[in-house]
Amino acid sequence: VYVFYLIPASCLLSPYHTSFVLQKEEVEDNTDANMEGALIARDRVGVQDFVLLDSHTSETSFLNNLRKRYQENLIYTYIGTLLVSVNPYKELDIYTVTQMQLYRGVNFFELPPHLYAIADNAYRVMCSEYNNHFILISGESGAGKTEASKKILQYYAVTCPTTEQLQIVRDRLLLSNPVLEAFGNAKTLRNDNSSRFGKYMDIQFDFKGAPVGGHILSYLIEKSRVVHQNHGERNFHIFYQLLEGGDKDLLCWLGLERNPQKYAYLIQGRCAKVFSINDKNDWKIVRKAFSIIDFTEKDLEHLFGIVASVLHLGNIQFEEDSNGHAIIRNGTQIKWISKVSFPSQVVLVLQVLSPLNVDLAFYARDAVAKAIYGRTFTWLVNKINGSLANKDSTRKTVIGLLDIYGFEVLDTNSFEQFCINYCNEKLQQLLIEMTLKAEQEEYELEGIEWEPIPYFNNKIICDLVEQKHKGIISILDEECLRPGEATDLSFLEKLEEKVGDHAHFVTRKLADQKTRKSIDWVDFRLLHYAGEVTYFAKLNKLFSMSSQVATQFKNSLMSLIEILMSKEPSYVRCIKPNENKEPGKFDDFLIRHQVKYLGLMEHLRVRRAGFAYRRKYELFLQRYKSLCPATWPHWHGPAAEGVERLIKHLGYKPEEYKLGRTKIFIRFPKTLFATEDAFEIRK
Ligand code: ADP
Ligand code: MG
Repeated sequence: VYVFYLIPASCLLSPYHTSFVLQKEEVEDNTDANMEGALIARDRVGVQDFVLLDSHTSETSFLNNLRKRYQENLIYTYIGTLLVSVNPYKELDIYTVTQMQLYRGVNFFELPPHLYAIADNAYRVMCSEYNNHFILISGESGAGKTEASKKILQYYAVTCPTTEQLQIVRDRLLLSNPVLEAFGNAKTLRNDNSSRFGKYMDIQFDFKGAPVGGHILSYLIEKSRVVHQNHGERNFHIFYQLLEGGDKDLLCWLGLERNPQKYAYLIQGRCAKVFSINDKNDWKIVRKAFSIIDFTEKDLEHLFGIVASVLHLGNIQFEEDSNGHAIIRNGTQIKWISKVSFPSQVVLVLQVLSPLNVDLAFYARDAVAKAIYGRTFTWLVNKINGSLANKDSTRKTVIGLLDIYGFEVLDTNSFEQFCINYCNEKLQQLLIEMTLKAEQEEYELEGIEWEPIPYFNNKIICDLVEQKHKGIISILDEECLRPGEATDLSFLEKLEEKVGDHAHFVTRKLADQKTRKSIDWVDFRLLHYAGEVTYFAKLNKLFSMSSQVATQFKNSLMSLIEILMSKEPSYVRCIKPNENKEPGKFDDFLIRHQVKYLGLMEHLRVRRAGFAYRRKYELFLQRYKSLCPATWPHWHGPAAEGVERLIKHLGYKPEEYKLGRTKIFIRFPKTLFATEDAFEIRK
């Protein structure tokens, strides 16, 4: 007798850790204890798919289900085919090679929800239909996006077929991560390894399904971090790694001392050393990765020369001469910079800038440091792409992994948050469109009538930001073309004039009419789909540097959306359970907020408005055939007819289901639940 045991995501501890998942296991007979255990456990660990929640779709029952599961270390739950993940903040035993193999080639709903199921599903559809896919991973900082994307990459590296020749590609794909993280990640208050850039990575597969190459696009590296860090935060990892791990000769050649306290750019956050980060060890990993990704010693010499130059730049001090101009009295840093980076050019820039006053000189110094770092990062990504490039011209299919910053609200929100949140608006729109589109297409394909449900279309906010001539970015660009004339106030006035009556735009100026004279800052507020954010619009500092940057960002986002639109989507929504990086702590308030702005309820509603469940006839029959004498133990006719017989026998009412061309569609979860219960009792 086969019994379908229900297993926890983490391990096969006991049959009582059940959920709505299946593990085939042979047992001798079916005892009452088994059945009872199964039912109790469902109560305890919730449902593995939110569409199966029997109460109406309230946020509270959603949260209860998530909490129940989280407390059992079941960090993954589906909404249909979307995966919700809650950061466990502890190592779980669910990422082993054995687990990977368990998920290989197995149908989505036959195992506990897992990243591997999402990865495997995209991969299998790609192989069988020969089309392109992407997996969009979103969530706020610290929610687990980067870990998820690494785990998916590892899954492919381990489970996909490969040859000795292709081994190197596999290694490079994996090792591009530590290198990019060294230069693009930093310790922040919210995440000790926070990615400070957006990343989209294509993994290319040949017709046999072997990974044969890759390509990375990076978005908006947070350059301001190079020269400034908030309290409790660090600069990019690479600086500390180099100082901690670099051998004596290298540091000597670069003119660096091992102590990070000596460098102005490294100590503003007052936490150069962090307990949770082993810079020395990470340096070793990065050095090794560099050699495998094909960086020559010469490349590295230049690269570290530039890293060192940035540190030297940060230590340059300006003093005022008798004319009020900035001068550099101590030329030590300049000497080192010219020695370790490309000579003359940098020095020249500084000399040209020297007639500035002291404030402006510091400002210019920082601008140079940021520009150098930004370009180096771009160079690094290009270099990695060179080593991942697959030169043969046979057709390939790809799976794209998008690990991109989530919606962000800080105490002070500047241009960077503006771009990040705009990006999230675009991706939210993409998700809504593609989910609805996919849903509608499926109904059409299957010949099923349905009425689309209304949803909030955030296109109105995207337009507010990006529309030509009328949008905020255009207005910003125009203002930046008037150097000297444009001010924060004139920018805000323009905004007010052009978008002032937009339903999602508010300026602070109106609210602060009285005190306005005494303040030298202004801001505006956007009502994003995910909540309100007030942006600090100090033009000459934050927004003015963004001349054209916003437009460039807009354009790169547009092409990203285009890239994504041509592919089949999968979604992973990551949730951060608490602000303290603490395992097991489920902060209701914080999570409820994320559930809201990740659009999870909306997604669930769309899922449920149509048909909560759909299953290929063959699979449905295979699972439930024991419930009907006509189909048990074998049904010899077409699966569709078997299913029809089966559900007639079960007493499905006409409004509860629809029969499509290849699938049965079940409208209410409770119908499927009843069937599932009957199935369990029969066991
Ligand atoms: P994000 O990229 O969303 O900002 P990360 O992926 O860097 O967040 O995750 C932040 C931290 O949370 C990680 O450094 C790790 O300590 C922990 N973490 C995230 N996902 C997992 C996981 N699946 N298992 C264990 N720890 C995790
Ligand atoms: Mg990250």
